Formats: sequence, C-alpha cells, structure tokens
Amino acid sequence: MTPSLTDRLPAAVLNRIKALAEAHPEPLSAYVYDLGALKNHALWLKSFLPQGVELYYAIKANSEPEILETLAPWVDGFEISSGGEIQRVSNCPIRKNFIFSGPGKLDSDLSLAMRQRVEMIHVESLDEIRRLTRIAASLNRKQSVLIRINPVLPGHLATRLSMAGMPTPFGIDEQQLAQAIALVEQSQSLVLSGFHIHAMSHQTRVDRHRQLLDWYLERWPVWKSLVSNAQTVRYLNVGGGMGVDYQHAEQFDWPGLCRHLEERLKSCPNPPIVRFEPGRYVTAFCGYYLMQILDIKQNHGQSFAVCRGGTHHFRLPAAQGHDHPVIHVPIRRTGDGPAESGAKGSVLTCVQKRPG
Ligand SMILES: *Cc1c(COP(=O)(O)O)cnc(C)c1O
Repeated sequence: MTPSLTDRLPAAVLNRIKALAEAHPEPLSAYVYDLGALKNHALWLKSFLPQGVELYYAIKANSEPEILETLAPWVDGFEISSGGEIQRVSNCPIRKNFIFSGPGKLDSDLSLAMRQRVEMIHVESLDEIRRLTRIAASLNRKQSVLIRINPVLPGHLATRLSMAGMPTPFGIDEQQLAQAIALVEQSQSLVLSGFHIHAMSHQTRVDRHRQLLDWYLERWPVWKSLVSNAQTVRYLNVGGGMGVDYQHAEQFDWPGLCRHLEERLKSCPNPPIVRFEPGRYVTAFCGYYLMQILDIKQNHGQSFAVCRGGTHHFRLPAAQGHDHPVIHVPIRRTGDGPAESGAKGSVLTCVQKRPG
C-alpha cells in the first residue's frame, strides 16, 4: 500500500467505507458521495458567478435524491431531459425552478412538465414547437420557451465540438432560426424568452470555452434582431460541458471563465441574462465508486484483480475511454480470518481531484 494514495481520500469517505465493510458481510460494491464536499463545491462555483449570471444543474450527471437536495439551496435551478427526471425534481423536498431540454420529448413529458410548472422548455425542432403549442393550449398555459440553436460556427470554433456546429440531433439549425421564431410568435400559448446552445461536452480547455462564449455574445444581437417583439427575449443559456480531468490535479479554470465573462458582459450594450447548466463539473468531484477485490490471479503474464462490480455500474469510463485513478484501500473486518493473499478483501476506489 502507498499511504499517500489513501491520504487522498477524505476522512469522511474513508470512514464510510469502513462502516460499510463492518455493516455488510458480503463483499462491497457501492457509490459513496461526499455531500459536505459537494455543498462546498457548489458554493465555490457560485462565488465566481458574475452579477446577472445564473447556475442551473444538469441532473443527468447524477440525479440521486440526496445529491439534488444538497445542491438545491445553492443552484438557481435544475435542467432535465426526460419524464423520469421531472419526477426526480418534483420529489426534491426543496422546490426549485426547472428547465426542460433535449430532442425526443414525449407529448406526455411536455404535458407533465407544464403541469409541474416547468420554468422554460428548450424547443429542439419545428415540429416540437407545433406539438408544444397544441399541448400548452390544451392546458390553458402560456409557456416560456428558449429556442435551442445548432449554430453555424466559424471554422476555428467548429472543430472539436461534439454537440453543435455540425450535423447532430440537437437543436434547430441556425438557418431555420427565423422560421422557428415565427412559429413561436404565431403561437398564442408560447412566449419566446431567449436562446439556448449546448455545443460542447467534456471541454477541458478554458480558452476554447471562452471563445465559444464570446462568439455566442457576438451573435446574440443578430439572433434577437430576427424577433419582432424582442422585449421578452432576455435569456441566453450557454449550456454546460466543462470537463473534468480524471488524471491530473489541474482542472478546468472556472474562476477564469467567470472573470472573462464578467468583463465581456460589461462591454455588451444590452446584455442577456446568461445561464450556465453544467452537470459533470458540479458533481464529479464528490463521487467515489467502490468495489471489493474478490480474487487476484496471474494470466499469461499479467495480474488481474477480480472485483465485485465493474463497468455495468461505472459505464462512462469504459464507454468513453477515460482512465480513472484508482486508490487501493486495505480493509479488514472484525472476525476476518488470516489473509490468504495481500490484497484480497481490500477495496478499490475511483476518485477525481477537485479544482480550486
Ligand atoms: C448534458 C447536458 C448538459 C450538461 O453537460 P455536462 O457536460 O455534464 O456539463 C447541459 N445541457 C444539456 C442540454 C445537456 O444535454
């Protein structure tokens, strides 16, 4: 064992692992969340937000009830993308604003969201605008919407983007924006509140993110000019996508991004209310995945640790090729017999290093 590695686990997490091991005779497989650290991280994120900039949490990163309850007092609201997530925010004991994005919304999801008083719906296609118009009218509701744009980006920005600036199922092609705006304006049951762009996923470079925000703010007056009654158009939701470096201590420079945005907004004659909606960057740092080693063996010259749990529980690293750091935590339970092999019975924990 390397003591310095175990030292990287907060005492609260280490104690929790020991308590779980004592309470459960079967080998462990668990997610452990450091809710104190999550609260501190949310406060840290908020402390850099410029005046008039809002922070929503995209709950697809982790929608466990305790996570939502811990974040609820500190974020401006939740962003959701499915019917199941409407239930999850509705079950949160602290009532928060929620906004609804994503292609492929069911009629029943749209209707449920409006009955649960969704703050804004981010419309993702012309057909969705027509469906929403009909459903909102049937509920006698005047629904605030943002149009999600898949923009035509300048070359240097379009490269390396994953969700926009190229053909994707997300958002409305910027070329059809005037048509989308006209559809919303014709609708008696929808109010256009602004625009939404979520162009990037897992961006670890703050300079690229700064350039994206600069470009959105440059386009803002152009998009607004397409609207006949622009008074209600006040929001620019710039999505999430701040990445997490699973290998190194250095993380995405959130304070730097916020400082840059603050300066940039000062130079805007008529700035929008900017809204961020990150997911991963909010919760990744508080989570730990544990699996207990069941067996250790040699096969064709390599060593293998056979564990309780695996990629069916912790899918993203395997699916996206992330290499998470692993910490080996030696534990022995009361009543354990003599150890047959050095590592058997110990626990492996995946960790992320926090920014700041
Ligand atoms: C996934 C998603 C987010 C959050 O993305 P992260 O990479 O987790 O920050 C925000 N908005 C929308 C529309 C999304 O689909």
